[in-house]
Amino acid sequence: MTSKLIIERSTEGHLATSIPALDVPEKPLSELIPPKYLRDEEPRLPQVSEPELVRHYIGLSAKNHHVDKDLYPLGSCTMKYNPKINDWTASAFSEIHPYQPEQVSQGMLQIYFELEQQLCAITGMDAFTLQPAAGSQGELVGVLLMKKYHEMQGNVKDTILIPEAAHGTNPASVAMAGYKVVEIKSDSEGLVDLVDFESKINDSTAGFMLTNPNTLGLFEKNIEKIAALIHDVDGLMYMDGANMNAMLGIARPADLGFDITHLNLHKTFSTPHGGGGPGAGPIGVVEKLIKFLPSPRVKQVNEQYELVFDLPHSIGRVHGFYGNFGILIRAWTYIRMLGADGLKEISKVAIINANYLMHKLKDVFELAYDKTCMHEFVLSAQKQKKQGVNALQIAKRLLDFGFHSPTMYFPLIVKEALMIEPTESETKETLDRFVEVMTRIAREVETDPDILNTAPHTTPVGRVDETRANRILNVRW
Ligand SMILES: *Cc1c(COP(=O)(O)O)cnc(C)c1O
Repeated sequence: MTSKLIIERSTEGHLATSIPALDVPEKPLSELIPPKYLRDEEPRLPQVSEPELVRHYIGLSAKNHHVDKDLYPLGSCTMKYNPKINDWTASAFSEIHPYQPEQVSQGMLQIYFELEQQLCAITGMDAFTLQPAAGSQGELVGVLLMKKYHEMQGNVKDTILIPEAAHGTNPASVAMAGYKVVEIKSDSEGLVDLVDFESKINDSTAGFMLTNPNTLGLFEKNIEKIAALIHDVDGLMYMDGANMNAMLGIARPADLGFDITHLNLHKTFSTPHGGGGPGAGPIGVVEKLIKFLPSPRVKQVNEQYELVFDLPHSIGRVHGFYGNFGILIRAWTYIRMLGADGLKEISKVAIINANYLMHKLKDVFELAYDKTCMHEFVLSAQKQKKQGVNALQIAKRLLDFGFHSPTMYFPLIVKEALMIEPTESETKETLDRFVEVMTRIAREVETDPDILNTAPHTTPVGRVDETRANRILNVRW
């Protein structure tokens, strides 16, 4: 693939557009635009034909790794295939304007309404809001709901419990909402340590924020007991639903004792993600929290859909309009295409795929917790580290074989973690190819460590300073 910059493709006079000839009298620009706004020089824009323009963008898309290219086993992120029909339905709504009156936005409101109903059915919750733009924003909104609940109950509470294996956004959201974080240890099985947990619950406990299955890919089997203990002190149970891909049609958060849950629609319900969004992190709540949900809410009144703003107990608005509509349509399409049976099948296959990979790889790398996993599992490259190659080098080497790396160095409680989530959308042949490559890399650690230390060798850029690249973003050439 040529890596020419678009400016190098430019040839004077080449155009990718054809604009119809002017059929009104021509006026000088200075009559149309006040001269002070006119630029002195023409902008230096590339001049390219349409095929050259297309090649430029296709070339760019091929430089990065993406799910449409090959396996993207980034644990916790659920990088599954995104069916193209989702984009087709979303594009059907692309002309709609958020300021259109409700009478001519009924289709849009109906999608909101139906998606909320679908998510209620999937999670067992009593109501949903679609407004939060990401899982992390859902967490913040969820904690604000907890806060409002406790205020209304007259409860004085200032702490939220979080397991030490939690995703970094969990403590961040809790702190942003003004609560103190109390960390709960994991036990030898990788689950919430009940002894530590019980010792830390008291009257100041506002709630517990837990990922289930947890970030080690393990189901919290004591969840009902945990929920009962939290409810005993009038605390609330928040489920980080990022791992819902393992539970669709199998278990519902509300039945497990959770009061609030977010769903990452861009993960479980298939929207292209990575690179910063857009996403959607709707939250669902049980009956007693409905009145606090953000405004507006979608209601169905006499066969018509409307947005209701008059909600005296609501925590207020958390997003412009009603959330990221394009993502919501994609999730609605995905759920409608699959139906209840299809959704259940997704989780079953996601679990089988993860266990298949785990069994094939557990003798090649160390397995952090040797138990049946849910939709993901965590390997440790500690053995390889002792031989001089760490998880990062292994991840970089994977790129040479056309695979994205697993999630690295998370959860923090596993040293040299490689967290692998294959998702349901991969074939056995692809999983076997991944096993072959991982096995080959493990062999290289022993025989040719240099090749790992200098990897990747086949990508347009090799090692970049990732911290700098994140902080000082340069999006121009
Ligand atoms: C992805 C993820 C989040 C955050 O969700 P975003 O949609 O990226 O904000 C929170 N917790 C877990 C376990 C996750 O995997």
